[in-house]
Order: sequence, then structure tokens, then C-alpha cells
Amino acid sequence: MTINQRIKRVRSQIEGYCLDCKRDPNAVLLLAVSKTKPVSDIVAAYELGVRDFGENYCQEALAKQQELTDYDITWHFIGPIQANKTKHIGQHFSWVHSVDSLKIAKRLSDQRPDYLAPLNICLQVNVSGEDTKSGITLAELPELCQTIETLPRLKLRGVMAIPAPQDDFEQQRMPYRLLVQAVAKLKRPELDTFSFGMSGDLKAAIVEGATIVRIGTALFGVRKNAV
Ligand SMILES: *Cc1c(COP(=O)(O)O)cnc(C)c1O
Repeated sequence: MTINQRIKRVRSQIEGYCLDCKRDPNAVLLLAVSKTKPVSDIVAAYELGVRDFGENYCQEALAKQQELTDYDITWHFIGPIQANKTKHIGQHFSWVHSVDSLKIAKRLSDQRPDYLAPLNICLQVNVSGEDTKSGITLAELPELCQTIETLPRLKLRGVMAIPAPQDDFEQQRMPYRLLVQAVAKLKRPELDTFSFGMSGDLKAAIVEGATIVRIGTALFGVRKNAV
């Protein structure tokens, strides 16, 4: 399958799942996860109208960005954040989905240049409760939201999750439902973003209210490096 065919298929899946649960397909943003994939793949997707790309590794992303300065791309950082990378991330991305500590949030706010709009961020929540995965707990969410909202150069937009992979549809839905309920309890209308759903659980994510789905494999094919 070509990238062209894959994009068409993913778009029609998103549309179909939205119709199934009576959601507006335009309320779900397709974020193309291009980590480990060449610039030519990004250009191919761009030519089919994809404008949002997600990268996990700062250096790799910056190299690609330098080759793509003529393209009107919105860059999202979705990988683990090392403290020594916050300066580059704060300068070169519009969104960061993987904020999971106050320390990282503060650094991103301090290092976000004044000439750019505030950095859109999501808090990564560990909904499966595995201690090996990054992300804050649901219990930490209310207080961290409150503190982060005082940081001047960030715009807190919502939450992001990467649950443990499950084959069963109902099992896939459960962590997302818990997360949506936890956010509803905060009563903060400015939190309008639910970044969840990958190639393996797209339908469950959409049914539970995802507003950004992060899709790599289903668009660009299997990654060679095991990431
Ligand atoms: C790699 C990655 C994705 C995309 O995963 P696929 O299963 O290839 O769709 C989404 N989100 C994050 C955070 C990732 O690291």
C-alpha cells in the first residue's frame, strides 16, 4: 500500500467511527506520527493535506524541520522529554503532548520565546497505572493543572495517554473513559484536547472522545527500528 492509500483509509476509518458514535469527524485531528520515517514520507502526507506531524526525538525532529521550512507544518512533540532538551522543544514546536512533571512544564514556559505564541501542552497521564510508563497519575491531575495554568508561556490544552496495548475493544475503551471522566470533574472548559488513540486502538479512542489521534504505523507502515 502507498502512503496515499493508507491516508485515505485512515481518514475514512476516522469518518466512519465518528458517524457510528454521532461525532463530528472534523472534531478529530489526524496527527501523523513520522518518527524514524524520512522527510519524503512527510512530504507525501503533506501533499494529501496532512498538516500536523508528531515526532518523538528532538534531534531527529529538528533535522527534518530544517529541510521542511517551506512547508506550513504544525509540529507536535510527543516523546519523553529530557530536561536538557526543553530549550529546543520550546523553540521548535507548537504543541507538546508529553508533559509529565512541573519541572518540565516550568522549563518549557521559561524557555518559550516571546516572539512565539504560548506553547500548547497536554499532560501525559498514566492511565494503566504501570510504574514503568511515564505520565502522572489521575490523582495528581487536579493540582498539576492548577499550577501549570499560572505559567505564562504555556497554554494547557488537555491530556494525553498511551495505555498498555489491549486487543479487546472494551478493554481498550476503559482507560480513556476513566481519563475523560477525571477531566470532566475538573470543570475547566479550556481543557478541550484529548490526545489518545494510535494505530491499534483508533476506534476505541474515537468512541471515547479523542480530539487528536496520533497515528504512525497505519499511515507510514511498520517502523524498522523497534520504537
Ligand atoms: C509512536 C507513537 C505513536 C504512533 O504509534 P502507531 O502505533 O505507530 O500508530 C503515537 N503516540 C506516541 C506517543 C508514539 O510514541
